[in-house]
Amino acid sequence: MRKYQNFISGKWVDARSGLTFENRNPANWSEVIGTFPKSSKEDVEEAVRCARKAFETWRLVPAPHRGDILKRVGDLMVAKKEEIARTMTREMGKVLVETRGDVQEGIDTAYYAASEGRRLFGHTVPSELPNKFNMAIRTPVGVAGIVTPWNFPMAIPTWKIFPALLCGNTVVFKPASDTPATAAMLVEILVEAGVPTGVVNIVHGGGSDVGMAIVEHADVDLISFTGSTGVGIKISEVASKTLKRVSLELGGKNAQIVMDDADLGLALDGVLWGAFGTTGQRCTATSRLLLHEKVFDKFMADLVSRTKKLRLGDGLLETTDIGPCIHEGQRKIVQGYVDIGQKEGAKIAAGGAIATDDGQKNGWFFQPTIFTEVTPAMRIAREEIFGPVLSVIRIKSLEEGVSVLNDTIYGLSSSIYTKDINNAFRAIRDIKAGITYVNGPTIGAEAHMPFGGVKQTGNGHREGGWTVFEFFSEWKTVYIDYSGKLQRAQIDA
Ligand code: NAP
Ligand code: MG
Repeated sequence: MRKYQNFISGKWVDARSGLTFENRNPANWSEVIGTFPKSSKEDVEEAVRCARKAFETWRLVPAPHRGDILKRVGDLMVAKKEEIARTMTREMGKVLVETRGDVQEGIDTAYYAASEGRRLFGHTVPSELPNKFNMAIRTPVGVAGIVTPWNFPMAIPTWKIFPALLCGNTVVFKPASDTPATAAMLVEILVEAGVPTGVVNIVHGGGSDVGMAIVEHADVDLISFTGSTGVGIKISEVASKTLKRVSLELGGKNAQIVMDDADLGLALDGVLWGAFGTTGQRCTATSRLLLHEKVFDKFMADLVSRTKKLRLGDGLLETTDIGPCIHEGQRKIVQGYVDIGQKEGAKIAAGGAIATDDGQKNGWFFQPTIFTEVTPAMRIAREEIFGPVLSVIRIKSLEEGVSVLNDTIYGLSSSIYTKDINNAFRAIRDIKAGITYVNGPTIGAEAHMPFGGVKQTGNGHREGGWTVFEFFSEWKTVYIDYSGKLQRAQIDA
């Protein structure tokens, strides 16, 4: 069993307190992957001090050179893709095809950020006065506090850390306590690629200790957080005391509409992947299926039969379709919602219980579950469950589908299956969500496209694509007067 450490100021170190915590395999809870430093405020203090010091030199490194380092990061990730994917499956349970995809997203993000080093465009704008030049350029913000969840242990940290570095910021990174090993591999790669001392620091430990200490710290300039809406709101409150820039990517209650004119085979593949991929533990997971009444019975029969054939087990085995819930607490939440759904009058069409076959007993497995006879007012139709539970709601029209889809506090991802171009464009216009897929499931973001949600899914920023560089850079407006005299804007113009 490996003993992992924090990385602060270019050195691997234990927590000041000497305390540690264990990281276990959710498919086989007796397997310990490693021990990690259980850090506290003092460790954060040290990391922020080093990140601040390193900022003064890193900000002066030309952006194309920062990009070259990220290019090497991408190359190293390619070389280590399989090793990282296997570690990730062991520590958080999702199947190997998906953990390979998670690493690939990091690779794509590295190369995209690397190329941005030779753009990072600003603006030149005409002045209203003669012999005067106006421009707006991008400058780094400072020390970036990065706090991430466990469901995309590589992709999400890279979405944040790579653009942060490219823009010239330094980083203090607190990964989720459930996936510290993948995070450690990412930092090892950054170091191997040549990121200078102090530019990236990782502090392992609990959310309310380490995460909150970063958010509270007066010398941290921005926070990029992905996680639950509850924690996001708390972070937003605390960060407002030092007027930090904050990007929040939070919960979802995503829905897939299936119209009566849809390619039903395609829609079935989509909902199975969207609802049960990553054991339903994606912020973009399909949690509701809004199914047109004209195709309801046939589609439900096929959906139930396909769902019952899904194989639960260790994600390292090629025969496994679905891994476990992340831990006992999450499985209890899932069980709780299954109980609530039944009390509210919904009917279980598949699954509905803890999975206890051989190969499942030692992990946190829960059967893929489908609820039918769900109404939009039920809690299972409104609240994020974050597990393998799909609520099916019957709809009569596109208008009803869109209205039910929008009837939630969240607005992350959405999907419509239809062959009618008019339906598709009306849905794109009227759905209130950051992402809409047409004839594709609610999951499947690409690294070079904006990612994020509306309503209580976030606070208006976007990760991914060209948009993320907005968050990680500060505009500096520059006026250069070469007239040799005092020229007064608005007065002499
Ligand atoms: P979480 O409990 O909010 O934790 C996320 C991160 O915040 C973890 O690193 C956690 O540390 C830390 N944290 C917890 N409490 C904190 C506090 N008081 N102050 C500062 N940091 C704190 O979320 P999760 O259960 O890991 O992840 C699931 C949630 O994330 C779901 O709601 C899901 O929808 C959302 N999510 C959203 C997106 C998106 O892009 N919109 C993507 C993925 C996931 P510990 O691990 O040590 O507790
Ligand atoms: Mg684990």
